[in-house]
Amino acid sequence: MNSLITGGAGFIGSHLAEFLLSKGEEVTIVDNLSTGKFENIRHLTDNPNLRVHIDTILNEPLMELLIKDCDVIYHLAAAVGVRLIIERPVETIETNTIGTEVVLKLANRYKKKTLIASTSEVYGKSDKIPFKEEDDSVFGPTIKSRWSYACSKAIDEFLALAYFHEKKLPIVITRLFNTIGPRQTGQYGMVVPTFVQQALLKHPITVYDDGQQARCFANVTDVVWGLHALMSDPDAVGEVFNVGNNKEISILALAELVKEMAGSESEIQFVPYEKAFEQGFEDMRRRVPDISKISELTGYAPKVELSETIQQIIEYYQK
Ligand code: UDP
Repeated sequence: MNSLITGGAGFIGSHLAEFLLSKGEEVTIVDNLSTGKFENIRHLTDNPNLRVHIDTILNEPLMELLIKDCDVIYHLAAAVGVRLIIERPVETIETNTIGTEVVLKLANRYKKKTLIASTSEVYGKSDKIPFKEEDDSVFGPTIKSRWSYACSKAIDEFLALAYFHEKKLPIVITRLFNTIGPRQTGQYGMVVPTFVQQALLKHPITVYDDGQQARCFANVTDVVWGLHALMSDPDAVGEVFNVGNNKEISILALAELVKEMAGSESEIQFVPYEKAFEQGFEDMRRRVPDISKISELTGYAPKVELSETIQQIIEYYQK
C-alpha cells in the first residue's frame, strides 16, 4: 500500500508518515515546507519505503504523477493556526480551497480514495455542546478573518461530498479537534506548544481573555490511529467524522498544569483578545467533540492522557 500524504512534513502528517512506515507500508510525502519542517521527517528519511517531494500541491503535473502512482491519499496540506489565518488570510483561503480542488480533481481522474482533513472550526461558534457531525455550522461575519478558515474548510467538505455523490469518488472527511504532541509549533498560535515554551523559558504564560474558554486536546498518535482506521473501513466512505478527545479543560487550568509540570516560575498573564489578535476577535467558549460515530465504527478511543502528552511536549522542547 502506497499512501500519498500531502502536508506530510507537518505536525500531524509527519506522525502519520511514521505510523504507516512502522507498519511496513510505503509513504510518499509532498510538502512545500510552508508551515511543515524537514526536521519533522529527517529521522524517517533512511527508510527505503519513504519518498519525499518538497513542492506545492498546486504543481499539477507533479501531483498527477504522484496521485497516479499511489493507492490512497491523505490530504493534510493546509494553512492552519489562528495566528496564521489572521496574519496571512490570502494564503489561507487559497491554499485551503485551490489546493483541495487540485487534489480532488486528480484523485477523481484516477479514482483514488481520499481522506480530507477538515477541522472542528467548521462548527464555528455554535454553542450546542458536544458537536455532532450533522450539527449546524454557525459562522461570524466575513469582516472577521477568522471565519475565512472555517468557510474554506467547509467548502473543501462540500466539494469532497460533491465528488462522492456525483462522481462516486471514495472520500472520507475527518474533522480534527485540537490535536497536540511533539513537533507541533507554537509559531501559528497553538496554545499548548506556546504555553510549554513560555513555561520552560520562564516567560509569562499568556492566557487570553479570562481563561475560562475550554478545549479538548487529543494526542496526535490517537488521532493518527483514527485517521488510518477510518481509511481502512469501507463503511467510512462518503461520511464525516469528528476525530479528537472529548475530555475538556479550561485554558487557565491548562496554563496551571503546564506550569506545574514544567516546574516553572512563570507568572500567568491574562491578555485581552484585542491585544493578542485584532479588534472584535471572536473565540469559541467551548469546543467538545461527540466521538461516538468514529468510536462505533472503528473502536476508536483516545488512550493518551493530557498530562502524558504535555510531558512528551516538555521533553521535546527540552531537547
Ligand atoms: N490561547 C491562549 N493563549 C495563547 C494561545 C491560545 O489563551 O497563547 C487560547 C485561545 O484563545 C483559545 C485556546 O487557547 O481559546 C486554544 O487556542 P488554539 O489556537 O490552540 O486553538 P483553537 O481551539 O482556537 O483553534
